[in-house]
Amino acid sequence: MTKEFVDVLVIGAGPSGCVSASYLFKNNVKVKVVEKTKFPRLVVGESLIPRVMDHFAEAELFDALDAMNFEKKLGARFIRGAEICNFDFSKKFGEGWDWTWQVPRADFDNTMAQEIVRKGIDLEFETEVLEVSFEGKKSKTIVKDKDGNLKEIHANFIIDSSGYGRVLPRLLDLDTPSKLDPHSSIFTHVKDINREEGEEGTQISFDILETEVWLWVIPFSNGNTSLGVVGPTDFINSLSENKDNAEALRNAIQKSDYYIKRFKGTEFLFEPVKLENYSRAVKRMYGDGFALTGNSSEFLDPVFSSGVAFATESGMLAAKLYLKESQGIPVDWEVEFTQYMKRGIAVFTTYVQEWYTGNLQTLFFHQPENPEVKEKICAVLAGYVWNEENSFVKKHDHVIANMAYLLNMQKEQSPE
Ligand SMILES: Cc1cc2nc3c(=O)[nH]c(=O)nc-3n(C[C@H](O)[C@H](O)[C@H](O)COP(=O)(O)OP(=O)(O)OC[C@H]3O[C@@H](n4cnc5c(N)ncnc54)[C@H](O)[C@@H]3O)c2cc1C
Repeated sequence: MTKEFVDVLVIGAGPSGCVSASYLFKNNVKVKVVEKTKFPRLVVGESLIPRVMDHFAEAELFDALDAMNFEKKLGARFIRGAEICNFDFSKKFGEGWDWTWQVPRADFDNTMAQEIVRKGIDLEFETEVLEVSFEGKKSKTIVKDKDGNLKEIHANFIIDSSGYGRVLPRLLDLDTPSKLDPHSSIFTHVKDINREEGEEGTQISFDILETEVWLWVIPFSNGNTSLGVVGPTDFINSLSENKDNAEALRNAIQKSDYYIKRFKGTEFLFEPVKLENYSRAVKRMYGDGFALTGNSSEFLDPVFSSGVAFATESGMLAAKLYLKESQGIPVDWEVEFTQYMKRGIAVFTTYVQEWYTGNLQTLFFHQPENPEVKEKICAVLAGYVWNEENSFVKKHDHVIANMAYLLNMQKEQSPE
């Protein structure tokens, strides 16, 4: 078996792996990326949030992505029947990017992967990690290439960015059940032939069909639009008696007063994909000689589009901490990696839970709007969930529930 020696092995060339590898390479670390599939490959997660732009800029991937003219995402729109709540990222509390993109991930991820290859990073496609063993911090990874050849990769550190492949969580028994209720989703892309001109046509929207069920509409600059329905697993399963994903998605679109006309009869560009019970969690996020980043560690819920942002945040942080340690500076992975990531994850976990209780929806659709509350929530939706000057970050665990309780009481006492 052939052998290779590297400083860092990155598993997976999604956003987490590419950001990590690009940052390490820029800092003269010998890094290798192995990716199981051939790109472009289909992957869900098309609505980004502004925080990712910090990571793409720092990893020097921004220019390549910007050149692709992906649709700009300036905010997000939530729809509930006739009620509409628009968030504009330029009107958020605190510092940070006020725009991002909404992207077909096959093209987006391929752009990043090709860019890291162009920079000179050793990225092997169609190469799957089969086994990993550790001796202290040093690891030996067995990979299989597309011709079935096996190879040993010896590394000082592994960044596992394998997404739902969950390579190290599987091999090291690190999986643990998510705290969130089981939810599932069905999605596809359509040729958006009835798309209106201007903002109405290109705006990203989340249409609430029932308190716990919503439809995403993510228009791309290539004229196609991603459509997905999300809800409790039992509800998603009940959308088609025949377990036919296309029928289930069509039935969900039928429930949307807002979008029924626009997507009536539109052609699905691929057989809708079902992602069942998608939330994931791990017992720990690092160990001797490795860190778990992106979906390989935690995934919450798509409702606030935080997945890619956590993937790039953790990918970037793992790379920085490895670099620091390799320079002889001690790193407390528990504090600097796990606790930092968990602070952001806790904020979004509350927002996801309060979305599905309906409390956050009460705040979103309350009229008249409270501009201060809106700016602070907007900063969270933009991904700035570590800014504790924002009371909607610092007090996330009770501010939403308390405020919704007061608004509901007010409404009961003075119904229109
Ligand atoms: C229904 C749903 C909707 C979502 N919507 C959004 C959204 O709108 N916005 C958002 O930000 N996020 C969203 N997400 C989350 C998003 O998909 C992920 O958070 C994001 O793709 C994670 O990126 P990553 O780099 O960690 O993993 P991925 O992008 O999944 O990349 C992992 C890579 O690792 C490779 N790999 C796997 N196993 C191996 C192996 N054994 N050897 C080598 N390579 C391997 C895979 O082929 C893959 O290319 C959604 C998720 C779900 C379930």
